[in-house]
Amino acid sequence: MRAFVVNKPFDYGLADLRMPECAHDGVIVKVLAAALCHSDLDIIEGRRRHQVKFPNTVGHEFTGIIAEKGKGVTHVNIGDHVVCECIIWCGTCKQCRMGFTSLCDNFSELGTMEPGAFAQYTALPGRLVHPAEGLTIEEAALMEPAGNGLHAAETAGILPGDNVVIIGPGPIGILAMQFAASFSPAKLIMIGTRDSRLAFAKQLGATHIININKTNAAEAVMEITGGRGAERIINCATTDVSLETALRITGKNAVIVMEGLSGSGKPVPIMMDDFIVKNFSIVPASGVSTRQYMTAMEMVKNKKVNLTSLVSHKFPLEQMDEVLRTIREDRDKAMKILILPNGSV
Ligand SMILES: [Zn+2]
Ligand SMILES: [Zn+2]
Repeated sequence: MRAFVVNKPFDYGLADLRMPECAHDGVIVKVLAAALCHSDLDIIEGRRRHQVKFPNTVGHEFTGIIAEKGKGVTHVNIGDHVVCECIIWCGTCKQCRMGFTSLCDNFSELGTMEPGAFAQYTALPGRLVHPAEGLTIEEAALMEPAGNGLHAAETAGILPGDNVVIIGPGPIGILAMQFAASFSPAKLIMIGTRDSRLAFAKQLGATHIININKTNAAEAVMEITGGRGAERIINCATTDVSLETALRITGKNAVIVMEGLSGSGKPVPIMMDDFIVKNFSIVPASGVSTRQYMTAMEMVKNKKVNLTSLVSHKFPLEQMDEVLRTIREDRDKAMKILILPNGSV
């Protein structure tokens, strides 16, 4: 079968691999669509090496149909369209038993440590697949980033009437914004640097947009919120400046959710008295638990969140060079790129 294999950073290409073997409690999924994630590019270009195995087939956001299943798998049948989780959780450690499967003590992951989805077929434990009934191929392929957006919005603990700011109108920021909208905020403000992406955020529900390169974001947020500031801030940008911005727009009793990694290693100072007086907190949100997949799937089915409009490009697996050129050179237009390893869908 054909697969896109990264041998080591900047050394990659299509390869002919043996078909994966199906375990007793496992399934083989024929991949219909797999989305490129920025973290895939980080692996390909050597920025991410932690918990990454080389050589490996990358790709962790995907959907497909069950091509084979082990005798121990009873909840899906051959030919079923499924949503696939990418974190391989054990189900027996304390975090798994508490429902926090994305924090599993024994976790592994497709596309980083195990062969991923930029391939015609991929093997995974049966417990990671969920019937995708009622979802399109595009929606099912994007359920992992959708789950991340939901996780960020849930972690913010938005109450009706809160002023909510999202920083970073990339795919996760746009998704977090849509999930945040379902909690009935007063203002839903998107802050970013690219006008085209900010306009897209407005189309999908932002009440206000602020281009931080042109406008003083702190002043603008204070004006929009009548001097109250933001009560919930979801930071999906991967820069140090984004946290500095979040700290400047924080209102009382605020929660700042940190979704993206900056990767810079640079410390960001916090004014201690400000922290105490305003009584705000900073909390992380990353990864998607099984429960969050379930909730995200329901919300997408019920049209609370629009995933389809995030799909900007589709390419067959044979055109991976074009996929990488698009994400490197055309980032304004490339929101989510779908790779189709078994031809068009
Ligand atoms: Zn991803
Ligand atoms: Zn576990």
